[in-house]
Amino acid sequence: MAAAPRRSPPRLLQVKATQMLSPTLKRVTLHGDALSGFPDHSDGAHIKLMFPQPHQKIPVLPTLSENGIVWPADGERPIVRTYSVARYYADIGQLDVDFVIHEAPGPGSDWARSARPGDTVGLAGPGGPDRVKSGADWYLLVADPSAFAALAAALANLPDDARGHALLEVANQEEILDFQHPAGIELHWLIRGNMTPGESDCLIRTVSQIDWLPGIPSIMLAGENSQVVAIRDFALNQKKVPRHMIYAVPYWKDTFDEEAYHAERHRIMDEMDTPDSK
Ligand SMILES: Cc1cc2nc3c(=O)[nH]c(=O)nc-3n(C[C@H](O)[C@H](O)[C@H](O)COP(=O)(O)OP(=O)(O)OC[C@H]3O[C@@H](n4cnc5c(N)ncnc54)[C@H](O)[C@@H]3O)c2cc1C
Repeated sequence: MAAAPRRSPPRLLQVKATQMLSPTLKRVTLHGDALSGFPDHSDGAHIKLMFPQPHQKIPVLPTLSENGIVWPADGERPIVRTYSVARYYADIGQLDVDFVIHEAPGPGSDWARSARPGDTVGLAGPGGPDRVKSGADWYLLVADPSAFAALAAALANLPDDARGHALLEVANQEEILDFQHPAGIELHWLIRGNMTPGESDCLIRTVSQIDWLPGIPSIMLAGENSQVVAIRDFALNQKKVPRHMIYAVPYWKDTFDEEAYHAERHRIMDEMDTPDSK
C-alpha cells in the first residue's frame, strides 16, 4: 500500500508586490525561500493564510509533529483565513493571492489592505477538492469576487472546445475584470447594485434563465453562502445534476466572520461529501 502523502509544514512568506485589480480586489504577490517545493498546477486550490496577531509583526506558525499539528499558545496563535492560489509561478518562485478588500473589518482583508513589500504571512496547503470535474459535457461556473481567482484558474484550465456559462457577480461596473476563457464559454457579468451580498439573487435568477446545454455539466459554485446553497439545491433537485459533478463551497457569509461561519460551512460541505483541507 502506498504511504499517505506527507503534509508539508506551513511556510513563512514575504510580500513581494501588490496591485489593485479593481477598487475592491487586491493582488498580493508572495515569495520566499520557503516557497520551494510548493506543488505546481495548484492554481485555484484552497490555501490557509496565517496572519500575525495585532501585537506581532511576524506570525508564529504551528508545527507538525508525529501526532499532527501543534499550535502556539493562545494569544500567540496566528489568525487563520482560507484563500485561493490565484497563480503560482514555480519558475520564479512567486505566488499570487487575490484578496477582496471589504468594508467590514476582518483580519484577512485588513492585512491585505495595508500589505507592503517585506510584510510576512504564513501559508499552509494547497488542498481542497477539484473545482472542475472530469467527464463533463459542459461547464457552469458561478462566483463572486472572493472566488474570482479560483474561477479564473478554472477557466484557464478548461479545454479549448469547452462549452457553457460563467456567471460573475459584482457590486458595480468598476469591479468587472478581463478573464481569458474558451470561446464556447459565455461570460455573464451581473451587477448586484444596491442589494447586500446576502440579499442578492442575480446569480440564482440567471442560473434558472440560461440555456442548460444537453448532457451532464461540471458545476463550480463559490462565493457568498446564500446563493451558493440555493444554486446547489436548484442543480441537485430541479436539474438532477449528479452530486459528484458539483463543487459547491460557500466562501463566506454576509455579516458573519470566519469564526462564526466556519462550522456552518463545514456542515454544507459535508452535505456534498466535499473533503476539506482543514
Ligand atoms: C476555499 C475558500 C477559498 C477562498 N478564497 C478566497 C480568495 O482567494 N480571496 C478572497 O478574498 N476570499 C477568499 N475566500 C473567502 C475568505 O476566506 C472570507 O471572505 C473570509 O471571511 C475573509 O476573512 P476576513 O478576515 O477578511 O473577514 P472576517 O473576519 O471573516 O469577516 C469580517 C466581516 O467581513 C465580511 N466579509 C468577509 N468576506 C467578505 C467578502 N468577500 N466580501 C464582503 N464582506 C466580507 C463578513 O461577513 C464579516 O461581516 C475563500 C474562502 C474559502 C472557504
